Amino acid sequence: MGAGFLLAGAQHVRLASVLRADRLRIAEANDQLTHRDTIPAQRGTILDHNGSVLARTEEAYHVTITPKLLTDSRAFWVRASEVLGIPADQGIALARSGRGGLDFPEKIDRERRKRLLELCRTFRVDGIGFVPTGERTYPAGPSAATVIGFLKDGVPASGLEKGLNETLRGEDGVQVGFIDRNGSVIPWLRDEGLSREVQHGADVVLTLDRDLQAFASERLAEVCEYHGAWQGVAIVLESHTGNVRALATWPTFDPTDPLPALQRAQKGETASPEINPAVSVLLEPGSTFKSFTVALGLESGALTPNSSISCKGSIPVGSHVIHCALHGSPGHGAVDPARCIEVSCNVAAATWGMAIGKERWYDFLKRSGLLEKPDVGLPGALSGQFNWNEYDKRIQIATLGFGQSITVTPLQLASLFTAFANDGVAVHPRLIEKVGSSRVQVRPGVPLFRAETARTVLQMMKAVVQGEHGTGRALRIEGVEIAGKSGTAQKRDPKTGRMSNSLYVSSFVGYVSADSPEYTVLVMVDSPKKNGYYGAAVAGPVFRAIAEYLLKSGMVRGQG
Ligand SMILES: [Zn+2]
Repeated sequence: MGAGFLLAGAQHVRLASVLRADRLRIAEANDQLTHRDTIPAQRGTILDHNGSVLARTEEAYHVTITPKLLTDSRAFWVRASEVLGIPADQGIALARSGRGGLDFPEKIDRERRKRLLELCRTFRVDGIGFVPTGERTYPAGPSAATVIGFLKDGVPASGLEKGLNETLRGEDGVQVGFIDRNGSVIPWLRDEGLSREVQHGADVVLTLDRDLQAFASERLAEVCEYHGAWQGVAIVLESHTGNVRALATWPTFDPTDPLPALQRAQKGETASPEINPAVSVLLEPGSTFKSFTVALGLESGALTPNSSISCKGSIPVGSHVIHCALHGSPGHGAVDPARCIEVSCNVAAATWGMAIGKERWYDFLKRSGLLEKPDVGLPGALSGQFNWNEYDKRIQIATLGFGQSITVTPLQLASLFTAFANDGVAVHPRLIEKVGSSRVQVRPGVPLFRAETARTVLQMMKAVVQGEHGTGRALRIEGVEIAGKSGTAQKRDPKTGRMSNSLYVSSFVGYVSADSPEYTVLVMVDSPKKNGYYGAAVAGPVFRAIAEYLLKSGMVRGQG
C-alpha cells in the first residue's frame, strides 16, 4: 500500500515537470521573454470615525521617456499617441531625435499606464518608464494636517503618515517569469522563488470626527491669530473611552503644499507645523491644576470641603513670595476648596499643596501618567518633566499646587482631566480605532480618586462657569450647565530661564456638560501677545464654541 502510494506520487511529480519543461520550450520557441514586473503597493487610506477620508492615495505615475531607446514605428505611435495625448508624428520625431532621458510633463493614471505597458510589450519597445508619484490627497486640508502629516517626495515627513508608515505603506510585489504576447506574466510560468505578492498598506480608522476637527481648528486659528499667539491646541476627548474626537493645533499648513509654512517656520516667524504641540510641546499646566490639588487634598484627608484659609493676596514660602496678583485683587479673603477653584486662588492652592506633602504628590505624579509620552501613534511625543531632585522641595510642592514646577504635554493633561468625568478614573487617549480589520482596544483607565472625590471636585468646577465670581462666568451656555477651570500660567523666558512677565499660557478645560460630562475639552493658547491673556478670555471662547457645537450636532447623547 505504502509503496504504491509513493510510486504514484513520484510519477505525478515527474509528469508535472515534463509538462512544465514542455511549456517552457514552447514559450522559448515563440520568443517570449522573461520579465521582472514591480507591482507597487497602494498606500493605506486614513479615515475618520464615520468613514470620511482624511488621506488617500490616487494612483498616478510620472512617465519617463528615453527617445534613443524608442521605436519610430508608426503602428506603435498611432496607438501610443492616444494614451499619451501627443500626435503620432511628434512621437516619431522624438524617437528619431536620439535624445537622452526626459520627463513626460503630464501624470497618467493606472489605466493609461496599463495600456501603455501593454503597447510597449506588444511592440517590444524600450525607453518608457513609470515612477509612481504617491499622489496623496487630504480632504480635511489644513484642519487635520498636524495630525495626519504629509509626504515629502513620497517619503512620510510628519504626523500619522510618519508614525504609522510601516502600517500604511505595505510592500511592493514582484513578478518574475515568462510573459505572453500581451505582456502579462503567465501564471504557470511565474518564477515563484523570485516573485512576491504585493501587500497593500492597511487602512487606518481614527477616532476623530472630521467635521468637529475642522470646526475646532477654525475656531482655534481665529483666536490664535487675534491674540498673536505662538501656538495653540484644542483637544476633545470622549470622557469614558479616551477617544480623541478632535485634536486641533495651530499653526497648521496645507498638506499638499507644505513648503510655504515650513519656510515661515524655518525663518522663526511661526512655530514648526511639523511638530504637533498636543504631544510634542511641554507646557506648565498653570491654574487648571488646582482641581487636582483640591482632589488630592480631599482624597488624602489633608483637606475637607469645609477647610478654609485667609488669602491676603500673597504668602511667603521660604525665600519666595507667592502671589494672587495675577487676578488683580488685594486678596481673596476666606477661601475654601470650592472658592479656590472658582476664583483661582494661588495662596490657597500653595498652602494646600504644602499640606498634601511631597510623598503624596510624588505618588500621584507617578500614577497620573502625566510624565509619560502620549501614545497615540504620533511621532515625536515627549514625556512630561518634573525634577525629582529639586533642592527646595517645599517651594516645589507649593508651586505645584497651582500648576508650576511641572511641564506636561497638552494631550496627557487633557486625559488626566477625564478623571473628574469618570468617577476618579483617568482614561488613556485613543486616536486609532482600527488598523486594517483589527480594532485597537480601549486601554483600562487609571484609578486616581474615589468616585465621591471626583464628583465633589466636578461640582466645584461648575462654579467656575455658573458661579457669581467664577473666572469663566462669561462662558455660560443657555439651557445647559458647564463645569470647567481656567488657567493663566506665566511662562519661562526661553532666553533667561526665568519667569517672564509678558509670556503666558492661557488655558481652559471643561466638560460638556457638568451633569453628564461626556466630553472633556482642553484648549491651550501659548504666548498670546495682544488683546489680553487670561485663560478664560483667550482659551475660553474656543471651549465654548466647541461645547455649543457638541450640543447642537447631537454628539452629546444626553441631549435631544
Ligand atoms: Zn487668593
